[in-house]
Amino acid sequence: MNRKLLGLAVLGGWLALPSAHAQFGGGPSELSMIKLNNDMYVISNVAVPGLVTALVTNEGVVLVDDKFEVDHDNIIKLLRTVTNQPVKYVINTHYHGDHSGGNAKMQAMNAIVVASDNARARMVAVNQPGQPNVTAAGPISLYIGGKTVEIHPVGPAHTNGDVVVLFPDYRVLASGDIFANGPGTSAQLVDYAGGGSAKAWPKAVEQALELDFDTVVPGHGLVSKRADLQAYHARTMRFSATLTELGLQKKSRADFEAVVRNEFDWEDFHVQAALDGLIKEFQ
Ligand SMILES: [Zn+2]
Repeated sequence: MNRKLLGLAVLGGWLALPSAHAQFGGGPSELSMIKLNNDMYVISNVAVPGLVTALVTNEGVVLVDDKFEVDHDNIIKLLRTVTNQPVKYVINTHYHGDHSGGNAKMQAMNAIVVASDNARARMVAVNQPGQPNVTAAGPISLYIGGKTVEIHPVGPAHTNGDVVVLFPDYRVLASGDIFANGPGTSAQLVDYAGGGSAKAWPKAVEQALELDFDTVVPGHGLVSKRADLQAYHARTMRFSATLTELGLQKKSRADFEAVVRNEFDWEDFHVQAALDGLIKEFQ
């Protein structure tokens, strides 16, 4: 995965523009589907790698995230290769367009979109289509086809509306963008306009780690293990501690920039999107 493409994808998500796809040639992403267990699948793609997690039950399908609007038809096509059940629920891990851009099309198929209070508020504020039908400030559960799906608000971290989704029957967690793992995904992107926080980020990962699971589907990258999330937690701690130290030493903008670039894999798009917010948070 090309890092620049990924960064653009993430920024595109921030801007919540379906047209962000224009940056990738305008067409839908090429999608593939990975089987996690007897009932669960992960839909991933080469160009804009926000992952979709699917639970198939005999009372309908639950999706975590639904990519950009332009990817909708291909998501449905892939699901149809394993089930004829309708999509009953779509859970948005946060408001970014690469995770929630398909909402309106899913709602048109009678799916109910669920997100945190804060994620919906942000979608309303930026006039994003497909606003969630159901929201919660605390944990809520869905019961479908004899299975349980737990939605746990965490953070602020990537945004102030992040949730993680636990499938306790399968010991699987869909983490959204509080965790990314894989080539080109290691920079920790904080959406300050969306209420994100690098300082609070480790706490959000700790909240996720309090849950009982073995497998983690990150917001971007590769299907991972609990140990990968633990390692990522250490990285978020190091990020926060390093920036706190720079703030205490009253370091310059150039110093902050050098550290995030050299030690934390930030590139131009991360710097443009989040360096000012980061400095404000730690100075
Ligand atoms: Zn995001």
